[in-house]
Amino acid sequence: MTHEIDNPYPPRKWLQNNIKSLYIITLVIVLPLWVLASFYVFTNQAQRNLHQIIHNDVLLFADSLESELEKYRSIPKMLMMDVALTNSVSSPNLFNSNHIHNYLQHIRATTNSDEVFLLDIQGHTLASTNIDNEGINYAHTPFFQDASDGNSGGFFTMGVNAGIRGYYFSESLINSSSGTVIGVIVIKVNMARLERDWLNKLTPMMIADENQIVIASSTASWLFTSRQRLTNDQKRRIKLTRKYPTTSFPILPIEVIRNIEGAEIVKLPKLGYERVLETSHFLPDLGWTLYAHGDLKQLDLPIRRNTGLSALLVMLTLSLAYLATQRRLQFNETLVRREINQTRLQQAKNLLETRVEERTQELQASNLELKQTQQELIHSAKLATLGQLATSVTHEINQPLTAILTSADNAEQWLGRGQVEKAQDKLAQIKTLAQKMGLITSHLKTFGRKTDDKNDWICPQIALDNAFALLHTRINQEQVETVVEDLSSFQVLANDVRLEQVFINLISNALDAMQLSQYKRLTVYCETDAKAVDIHFSDTGSGIDNDHLLQLFDPFFSTKDVGVGLGLGLTISYSIIKTMGGHLSGRNSATGAVFSIRLRAASKSDRIL
Ligand code: ADP
Repeated sequence: MTHEIDNPYPPRKWLQNNIKSLYIITLVIVLPLWVLASFYVFTNQAQRNLHQIIHNDVLLFADSLESELEKYRSIPKMLMMDVALTNSVSSPNLFNSNHIHNYLQHIRATTNSDEVFLLDIQGHTLASTNIDNEGINYAHTPFFQDASDGNSGGFFTMGVNAGIRGYYFSESLINSSSGTVIGVIVIKVNMARLERDWLNKLTPMMIADENQIVIASSTASWLFTSRQRLTNDQKRRIKLTRKYPTTSFPILPIEVIRNIEGAEIVKLPKLGYERVLETSHFLPDLGWTLYAHGDLKQLDLPIRRNTGLSALLVMLTLSLAYLATQRRLQFNETLVRREINQTRLQQAKNLLETRVEERTQELQASNLELKQTQQELIHSAKLATLGQLATSVTHEINQPLTAILTSADNAEQWLGRGQVEKAQDKLAQIKTLAQKMGLITSHLKTFGRKTDDKNDWICPQIALDNAFALLHTRINQEQVETVVEDLSSFQVLANDVRLEQVFINLISNALDAMQLSQYKRLTVYCETDAKAVDIHFSDTGSGIDNDHLLQLFDPFFSTKDVGVGLGLGLTISYSIIKTMGGHLSGRNSATGAVFSIRLRAASKSDRIL
């Protein structure tokens, strides 16, 4: 047979049972997604930051390059009206080569340029700071053609002789009287001077010309490579202008991986760059494009670190949320259980209280029953005492009855003889004897009546007199000397009939105990203090066996023969005295036994006058 366990608590909710699995599932699903998302976000952010940095660098470089070029561009503009130069070109006969040469050297030195030279209208070099270049014809060059047309010229080329990259700035020299172009002044600046140290910065850069040929680069091997294959037209123009000594350039292999906002991610396989962020800036005046590069590989570590940290953070957050939810659920469950327990406790308490009340009522009922039984027992015991007294009472009544009969006979005879006076005497004797009999029966009547257990302040002397009156015959017959202290000055809390019953019992026991004594004396004396009166009954009887002292008041304890003693007298007396708020005790004395009744003594206010 199986017993179902009584579980008073409500079934746990779904969340309570599955919180751990939920946490693990969330972790397994959310964490990889989070890692992917954060990797994506961090990569984008890092690329954007890198783009911003290299873009700023390229803009700064462009600014610096343009301002540098602008500075040199203004120099031939200032010189185009120079009289010494125009005179030198317009009057070649007066031309003093030494003088003009020194003058050009002076310009070169003060402008910090690399070469300054003077061309006639056919493009021949009339004078140059570099004497080796005198006589060279530049008629084919764009910078000459632009200037001879009256425009400002600017041209990048790689020197045919020296193989140095240079930028040529040119302006026409104008005859002030005719206003016609008579020659060209040219300033050449070494490209390396323009680049300064920009190309050695952390951000790798390159400059590509209008043909996408790399003319400057922070990576030396990229120089004079081509970012794209040259068209025939481009090649023809390069050839025509002798811009570069060759028209074939190695291709710089660039693979565009993908475009991002304002930049491209490219692969430069030859150089071992797998992923490079490339941003560009076009310089419209020059037709050049500046390219800056950022190595994306260097971003890998911070991206991974940030992704890892964010994953850790999410894991922590999820774990904290899990723990907090679990604690919250546990707390709620504890609260619910506590409430249920409290309700159960309250119910148990109520049940207990009801049971206690029921038991109390039952006890009160049985107490009442017990009390009634006790009352009846006391009454029965009293009737038994009356039975025991019957013989001596009969004897007591017989005596005056016989005397009455005799006196009645005598009175009759005296009346027959006419002696009325003597007959009257006899009648008076009869009256006294009848009164005596009445007294005896009235004692019996008082003692025998059914009484309640109500206590009053009474004088114990009355009960004591009644008790002695009822036992008078036996005391006389057994020749017992009685010494009784006067108790009439005391008032005690007692029920008079019950007290008399106890007195009769104690006197009877004393008489029983003295039956075999040679010298029989019963002494009643009392002791008193402010609160109580002790009434002692001391006899000269057998005394009490030491072994019996503790059993004296036990029901049915008797040392008397069967049929003589019931063993209830002291038990009942004890309980009677107790209902009066007093105490009954027994002990041995030097002569026999002493039984003492302690009763509450009346204070002045209690006394009934
Ligand atoms: P019973 O008189 O029927 O035996 P009691 O309860 O009155 O019952 O007395 C119980 C016993 O106490 C007596 O049998 C007796 O042994 C002892 N006892 C009582 N009073 C005295 C006394 N005055 N002297 C000696 N023994 C006594």
